[in-house]
Amino acid sequence: MLALRSASRSTASRVGLRLKSTKVAVLGASGGIGQPLALLCKLSENIDEVACYDVAPVLPGVAADLSHCPTGAKITGHLPSSGAWPPTHDKGLEAAVSGADVIVIPAGVPRKPGMTRDDLFNTNAGIVKTLVEGCGKFAPDAVLAIISNPVNSTVPIAAEVLKKLGVYNKNKLCGVTTLDVCRANTFLAANQGKHPKEIVTVIGGHAGITILPLLSQVPGTTLSAADRDALTHRIQFGGDEVVKAKAGGGSATLSMAYAGYLFTEGVIKGLKGESVTQCAYVESSLTEARFFASPCKFGKGGVEEVLPFGELSAYEKGWFDKMLPELKAQIKKGEDFANQ
Ligand code: NAD
Repeated sequence: MLALRSASRSTASRVGLRLKSTKVAVLGASGGIGQPLALLCKLSENIDEVACYDVAPVLPGVAADLSHCPTGAKITGHLPSSGAWPPTHDKGLEAAVSGADVIVIPAGVPRKPGMTRDDLFNTNAGIVKTLVEGCGKFAPDAVLAIISNPVNSTVPIAAEVLKKLGVYNKNKLCGVTTLDVCRANTFLAANQGKHPKEIVTVIGGHAGITILPLLSQVPGTTLSAADRDALTHRIQFGGDEVVKAKAGGGSATLSMAYAGYLFTEGVIKGLKGESVTQCAYVESSLTEARFFASPCKFGKGGVEEVLPFGELSAYEKGWFDKMLPELKAQIKKGEDFANQ
């Protein structure tokens, strides 16, 4: 990997090209998701700098640890500057996000058994609001990828915060729903006795019944009604399997780090000029819900097009109708919080 990277860099310098370096900031980098996500970014051929930021005192150690991996990406570690308030005075956050192309935010608390993602709202809404204020001030052009739950509400919070700062660009704000797509691909492949492939489109939001996998659109797959129902339910509530199995130790971290890395890579490839299509929870006018996870075409400007998700089966339409009021209420909850 290192050799390949050096080869392409030296080829570039021989022909006199200047490659723009790509910086990713991970906010919440000491956490269960943040650490493996930062590691995967450190291994990426497409990323030149990974800035790690967290309020936990272990953060400098996490950054030092990552920095010993012999790959090309530079690691920097940042704690908040002491007593920094409001967050727009935080020199640590400023250093972490300044110049970032993509800022991934997995900061916040995870679920414990019996909790819904919405139960995290009281703690995580404030964390996301604070961090996004800093992003809007110090890195207004970056693509923000929000992982902190409840995503259905934290993305609207981020949009309202950025709007107030006068820097909101709907093409550069995404909720990360890639884990739902990963689960859909994995569970469907297991059902079909096949190797997982990237084939399922998952729309809606990122919580329970707002997650809608479009299994009817998977080419070459016919499911019995029982299998379809069971798979849909498992994809919608797959996160609960992990929360229950971790028995109070948190929610999905490793699969989420993988999914967050896949999403970040897709965004970066787009920024570098490749056309990449992946699902994300973004603002669009496709449905009555202001934010809706849909397949999106990513390019140099972030989300370049939100693609229509095609015809739904009668079964999927039933879930779509059931989901919309719930999703709209969760969006409003986020907007109201940011505007109170
Ligand atoms: P964690 O508790 O292990 O890590 C969270 C990290 O955030 C901690 O290191 C903490 O110090 C840090 N943090 C808290 N407040 C901060 C602030 N103001 N600034 C910077 N860092 C701060 O939790 P986790 O398991 O990594 O999960 C993180 C979030 O991701 C949770 O909200 C969880 O629900 C969510 N999640 C989302 C998905 C998804 O698909 N979008 C999947 C799994 C988990």
